[in-house]
Amino acid sequence: MVATSDSLVTLRRWLITTGSAYLRNVQWIPGTTCRVCGGVPGVGYGICPKCYQREGSPGLADKLGFITYAWPQHQTGHVMYGYKAPVPAPANRQMVATLLTYGVVAHWPCMAGPTGGLPDAWATVPSLKARPGLHPITEIARVPLHAFPQVPVSPSPVLGSHRGFLPENFTVAPTSAKHVLLLDDTWASGGHVQSVAAALRGAGVERVTTLLVARWLDPTWADTQKIISGLKTDFDPDVCPFTGIPC
Ligand SMILES: [Zn+2]
Ligand SMILES: [Zn+2]
Repeated sequence: MVATSDSLVTLRRWLITTGSAYLRNVQWIPGTTCRVCGGVPGVGYGICPKCYQREGSPGLADKLGFITYAWPQHQTGHVMYGYKAPVPAPANRQMVATLLTYGVVAHWPCMAGPTGGLPDAWATVPSLKARPGLHPITEIARVPLHAFPQVPVSPSPVLGSHRGFLPENFTVAPTSAKHVLLLDDTWASGGHVQSVAAALRGAGVERVTTLLVARWLDPTWADTQKIISGLKTDFDPDVCPFTGIPC
């Protein structure tokens, strides 16, 4: 069930009038999309190759949420690039901020663990490339999550490969948090997000819920193109980013 308040109603209305025509909710359709990340499954599998490779690794996120699909040469791709461009486009920044804020606040009850526990802290996935200033997702998330402590996560001093599942690439500051909401803008292969989830678990966190603004799709693959062409339904902010079902 979505949480509601006057300000959430305003955000919801803005998302519908400004974004519904081109944004697309992530879907979990058995046999059609990856059962973990809503991406494109391998032929004959219910899971995509990246999620399959990591399956069973210790410390993976307990719950994964994705707000919208995004792909290049499309308005969704322009928003995801534009919001963090060296000179960010204000309209794109407002869209990402509103999507994330509505996703976090309206779908907060959906983050409960099996015993009902909600996040008691949050973190973001740091970039492994040096970039000046605060990560834009951190800046955005600080507004709706101001009442909760942020768990600092940083790139490790010595990095392994930048790709794949490598929890040792990330260092987590000592924390007493039990359930961390881990946020990032884009999931392409999920390697960084899942590595940070495992690094948090390694630091004693019991549960990690992730929320990504965008599930990135690569339309150069014919199977992905097929999924993109099937995304006909307008975006609904109340479709749950964790289940793909209206809350
Ligand atoms: Zn997947
Ligand atoms: Zn929900």
